Parts: sequence; C-alpha cells; structure tokens
Amino acid sequence: MTPSTETRTSIVWDYAPAPESSDHIRLRGRYGLFVDGDFKDPVDGRYVPTINPATEEPIAEVAYGGPDDVAAAVESARAAHPKWAALPELERAKYLFRIARLIQERARELAVVETLDGGKPLRESRDVDIPLAAAHFFHYAGWADKLRYGVNAREVKPLGVVGQIVPWNFPLLMAAWKLAPALACGNVAILKPAETTPLTALLLAEICQEAELPAGVVTILPGDGSTGAALVRAPGVDKVAFTGSTAVGRDIQAALAGSGVRLTLELGGKSANIVFEDAALDQAVEGIVNGIFFNQGHVCCAGSRLLIQESVRDEVISKLWARMGRLRVGDPMDKNTDVGAINSAEQLARIEALVAAGEEEGAARRSIACELPERGYWFAPTLFTDVSPAHRIAVEEIFGPVVSVLTFRTQAEAIEKANNSRYGLAAGIWTDKGSKAFEVASALKAGVVWQNTYNHFDPTAAFGGYKESGFGREGGPAGLRPYLEVVR
Ligand code: NDP
Repeated sequence: MTPSTETRTSIVWDYAPAPESSDHIRLRGRYGLFVDGDFKDPVDGRYVPTINPATEEPIAEVAYGGPDDVAAAVESARAAHPKWAALPELERAKYLFRIARLIQERARELAVVETLDGGKPLRESRDVDIPLAAAHFFHYAGWADKLRYGVNAREVKPLGVVGQIVPWNFPLLMAAWKLAPALACGNVAILKPAETTPLTALLLAEICQEAELPAGVVTILPGDGSTGAALVRAPGVDKVAFTGSTAVGRDIQAALAGSGVRLTLELGGKSANIVFEDAALDQAVEGIVNGIFFNQGHVCCAGSRLLIQESVRDEVISKLWARMGRLRVGDPMDKNTDVGAINSAEQLARIEALVAAGEEEGAARRSIACELPERGYWFAPTLFTDVSPAHRIAVEEIFGPVVSVLTFRTQAEAIEKANNSRYGLAAGIWTDKGSKAFEVASALKAGVVWQNTYNHFDPTAAFGGYKESGFGREGGPAGLRPYLEVVR
C-alpha cells in the first residue's frame, strides 16, 4: 500500500495473525505450596484450577494454603531467617543476581505463562512485566552490600519474616517488587499471589530452587483471601507488605493496629492525566491511550480521569477516539494485540456495573466497535464524556479499559480537580512548558507524577501513594526503608 500524504490517516492496515506458541513452556499439571524449599501438598488446604481468562479453559491445579499451612510456612521462614540474615551481604547479592539471570533465561516462558494465566497481551508481558521483574532483582542485588547508604549512612538490620500479598494485575512484577528488596535487606519472605494468577509466582519458586536459594528464604503460598488474611494475622510475621484494593488494605491495617507488626500498603487510585492546551496533542493522545488501555486498565496508577483544557477538548477527544478505533482487542497470545482479556468474571462484572452507573448518571458513553471472542471475559475500550466530578465513574476505581473525560479552564482549576480525589497514587501532565509542569507537579497530591509520558516504570524510582492510595514506597533506595530497622 503506497498512500498519498493526505490519505495517511485513513489507512487501514491489515495484520496477519501473529500467535506466540505455548509449546515451549514447562508447566506442571498441579502445583503444591512452595514451603521449605520444596513443593508440598497442603495440610488443610485444597487444590483449585487456575483458568485462562481468554478461553475459560483450566491451565493447571494450584494448592490453596489453609491456616495450618500458613503456620507451617511461618515456622519454616523463621527457622531460615538467622542464617540468611547472617550471610555476608555479597553472598545475598549473589542469589539475587542468579534469580535475575534465571528470569532472563526463562523470559519467553514466563511471558507466555503470564499471558495465559492473566489475559494480558503477550506484547506487554514480554516487553514490560518480565524484563522489569528481572531489572528489580538486578537493582536490589546491587543494593545488598550498600544498605546503609540507602538510609542516610545509619546502621541497619533486617526485620525478620515478611508476609507479602500481591494482586493479579502484574503477578510476577509485583512479586519482584516485594521479594527483591526484602531479600536484599536480609529478610525472609512469604508471598501470597492472587487467586486468579498464581502461576508465574510458582515458576519463580522453581527459579529459587535453580538458584539454590536456601530453603525457607522464599515461600510461595497460593490461596484465596482467607489465606492472605491468615498470613497477615499469623504470629511470627514481623512485617506485612500489601498491594491490592483499598477495602482489603483497610481491613489489614485494622487487624495489625497496635500489634507492632510493620505495614506498607499500595492501594488503588483514580489518577488524573492532565492535558494542557500547549501540549503536543498527538503525543498526548498516545500517552492517554497508554495511560488507560495498557493492561486493559488493570493498573493501580491508570490515568482513568482525563482532564483536558477546554480550548482543546474537541480536538483531543476526536484524535483520541480515532486512535481508540485502531486498538486491536482480542487474543492476548497474538503479538499484535493491544487490549487482551479482562482478568476474571468478577472483574468484568465490576467494570460493567460501574459503566452502567456512568450511563445512568448521565455521562455519554462510547465503546469502540470490535469483534469480541465468544468465550472468555472481554470489555471494549470505552470513553465517557460529559462526566461531572460527582459521577461514580469520576470517583471510583474502575480498573478496566474505561476513561472518563473532565475539562478545566485554568491551571488552578486543573490542580483543584486533579486533587479532588480520595486517592493520590499518580498523575500525568502534558504541556510544552517545563516550568508549568514543575509548578503543577509540586501542587499535585500524587506519589508519582509523569511529565509528557505515562505508565513509565523503573526499578530505581520510588513508587507509592498518598491518602487512600496507601503508604510506604517501593523501588529505588526508598524501597529499602520498609524492610530495615535502623539500629543507630
Ligand atoms: P483484593 O484487594 O481483594 O486482592 C489483592 C490481594 O489480596 C489478593 O492476593 C487477594 O487474594 C488478597 N486478599 C483478599 N482478601 C484479603 C484479606 N481479607 N486479607 C488479606 N489478603 C486478602 O483485590 P481484588 O482482586 O478483589 O480486586 C478488587 C479491586 O481492587 C479492583 O477492582 C481494583 O479496583 C482494586 N485493585 C487494586 C490493585 C492495585 O494495584 N492497587 C490491584 C488489584 C485490585 P485473592 O486473589 O485470593 O482474592
């Protein structure tokens, strides 16, 4: 096809199918709990199938830990801690480097399993999730012998046994965010992956075996909410790190109040992506799309509240709608897919309920026309205009491929509207003026503020929220602090 310049935007490209194969992955039919360096049958738990949300087919059976399993896991971790904490720091670093290298070696397999288990496009698990997971282990391997420099040259010691609970949106990456700093600081960790996406954490358990990590240093304890609740409350856990919903975060905080157990919470968000009239609008539109449709919008820092300056509102919406029309929704294993499957039937029901509320409250809904597969859980990328700040779709986290557009006239109004949220996780600012970007960024109550980009993650940068988005930071030297006690 050789288009003339004026027809360039109307080109319709045909994509040939580009399916990734899954014949190279090494999955077992059944996974036990990874306790004391080995896979074990649950004592008082059960086996439950994990399914592929794009096909609703079972992939493997996974053990769910019961209360006795949690107790056994804590006992094994406690027994492993003194030796691990006493290892020379460079030795601890060696194990983290090994894990990072093994993640790289098994990257293709991990990417495929992440996509099969969670529904995210292979392009994202291959290019984002897995490389960043390896990068986190590399980063914290580098910190293992420099801990005191990460905390203002103070003398530090590890906390002990940490219980870590992660959600289903970035399963391996969240496991890496949690495990890498904890281990580098000399702690041992018990990780509970999410119910719908346990598989890459279990492959990480195999990687820990391959790396010859001493038994009990990492425990992988799949299960449901009750397993998480038991882990949080288990005697012998010194610190809890949780990523997930604000409701569960609140429950955990209440359970631990007054117990002396340390806690960090990385919770939800309703982040503002602010487009000023002087922004490079085509670039901003790419950032809006990446901000909300990346990972089907299952992103705690998704730019789900789009604030557009009134003077460019129509232009931005028309460019955005045209761009949305070119998103490819469907088989996550196809390398050309942009938007994959919704992670679970429950999550799909939550998205549908909030979108219905948006329509009932009077916002104007547009969803792109696309053929959705018959089986599996799907939701077409959706744009809401005529949204008022009081609408539920402007206030509540949808955690799906749905963006709500609000407008503003002045910089002050943009800041006020962006901060008008009970959350404070992230924000994006699109402007040509550096001074304006810095002025607005310093006025925003958000843990991360991106300028002329969105959803950019790096292991050297701290990530975390304000208000109901939680507390504590992950990533970079700031991510060491929650796993260390300052001695003097
Ligand atoms: P949850 O907060 O319920 O799940 C997060 C993790 O906590 C999972 O491993 C979960 O296990 C576990 N868990 C559930 N209940 C408890 C409990 N009482 N004590 C300890 N751990 C528990 O999130 P959902 O999956 O239910 O998603 C609900 C909403 O939360 C989403 O729509 C989204 O808005 C938000 N969310 C935000 C995330 C973020 O990154 N900030 C991530 C995920 C969700 P299990 O998987 O077995 O339920």
